[in-house]
Amino acid sequence: MSQINQAPQLLVMKFGGTNMQDADAIRHSASLVARSLNEGVKVVVVVSAMSGVTNGLLGIAEAAEKGDIALANDQIAALRTRHFTAAQLLGAAPDAPTVRELRELLETLRQAVYGVYLLRELTPRSRDLIVAFGERLSAPLMALALTLTESGQRAHHLTGGQAGIVTDNQFGNARPLPSTAARIRDRLTGLLDAGVTPVIAGFMGETEKGAITTLGRGGTDFSATIVGAALHASEVWAWKDVDGVMSADPRSVPGAQNIAQLSYGEVMELAYFGAKVLHPLAVTPLQDAGIPLRVKSAADPEFPGTLVTTDPHTDSVHPVKAVTAIKGVSIINVSGAGILGVPDVVADLFAALARENITLLMVSQSSSMSNVSLVILSSDEERTLAALGRPMGGRQLRLDVQPEVAVLAIVGAGMRGTKGVSAKLFSALAAADINILMISQGSSELNISLAIEGQDVALATRSVHSAFGLDAPVTAN
Ligand code: ADP
Ligand code: ASP
Ligand code: MG
Repeated sequence: MSQINQAPQLLVMKFGGTNMQDADAIRHSASLVARSLNEGVKVVVVVSAMSGVTNGLLGIAEAAEKGDIALANDQIAALRTRHFTAAQLLGAAPDAPTVRELRELLETLRQAVYGVYLLRELTPRSRDLIVAFGERLSAPLMALALTLTESGQRAHHLTGGQAGIVTDNQFGNARPLPSTAARIRDRLTGLLDAGVTPVIAGFMGETEKGAITTLGRGGTDFSATIVGAALHASEVWAWKDVDGVMSADPRSVPGAQNIAQLSYGEVMELAYFGAKVLHPLAVTPLQDAGIPLRVKSAADPEFPGTLVTTDPHTDSVHPVKAVTAIKGVSIINVSGAGILGVPDVVADLFAALARENITLLMVSQSSSMSNVSLVILSSDEERTLAALGRPMGGRQLRLDVQPEVAVLAIVGAGMRGTKGVSAKLFSALAAADINILMISQGSSELNISLAIEGQDVALATRSVHSAFGLDAPVTAN
């Protein structure tokens, strides 16, 4: 079969913050899009903000809330310089439409920030409006770069809302509504049919009333898969600054290796347990239609990266494929007379946390039912204590907090039915003299997670990674 026949018809390509960080990176990303376009493939592009811009915008919003408008304005000026410089280096004239549009966006941002300053109030709604400017500013730069590639592509940039992503009102962590898929098809099909490449600002959507929402940190991955599923794309490609999904965060485990193939379920577990490489919900839109996701390195486009499909492609030598960790976690120990032998207490605890939208990382209940331990992010600690501190069916609960904990998880579909995995995990930790505070195994048997002291996390991750044979083979020079 020829290459042309094998080529996918429609690709959604997502570019992360590093791939958008300056004019050179954007030009390179645009060349990767153009390469596929020149092969006759249609491409929809979804972009992140330039690296560091999302955190910068959060800082600007907080400075305005505190009344430091001078600091906020200085930082907006720095953003202006960074985006104008990129436009200029990409080849835009000072009065080019892209430059004018960037100027208008930055002016609207300044006004939104000024509103927060006047009110001294930063609501989740205004935070989303402000933080989504990162992607709204980077999308025009990518569209510009595409038009200026050698092959002179036609491109048109859109906000998430303009592209059809309509969400609920959960600002900061919004979810797409069912009407999204049809709306995306409606908004993008005409452009694609006309040979124009849509460039969508990732991370953001809008409510039915038109208020801007964001999909949670790392949400551009999710935007891309939402669009990919709606358009029945052949594949979604997430271009990154790493080779693909690795057996551990390469920043903390130097021997981490690329994982060639993963299942959707494995990726979800990895992302849920702290692997920052993909948004935890990123693969969910792709599952039903079985659309493959590839995680690829922009620095090495020929390298296959990681292919995510339904099939985990497990090999018997490596039942565990990856080790992840979440730092900044607390254990809340719930005990007291009110809990003893009362079966529905756990249901009440879960309901109280769900109402507050608090993520529960691990749960364990003693068999005497005299206490329940909950693992949550430390950033949710205050809200958790408030939610559980309210009277619950008149029961008296005692709440004790153990701060500075970490959760370590091993992930791999091959663990299912394989004996000795837990034994290997525990001996690796014992050999490194690491104390285990809590243990839980998901019923899917795709992961085993442990709570350990926060200070042990680096050593624990490296020890477990090497115990499961995941370190890269040392090659002689
Ligand atoms: P992007 O903007 O492209 O989405 P992110 O910074 O969100 O980039 O995600 C990529 C980063 O995720 C990598 O630089 C890496 O440090 C980190 N990371 C954490 N765990 C993993 C893992 N298991 N595999 C690959 N990268 C990981
Ligand atoms: N820019 C957003 C973030 O930093 C979304 C993303 O990069 O995926 O979280
Ligand atoms: Mg990301």
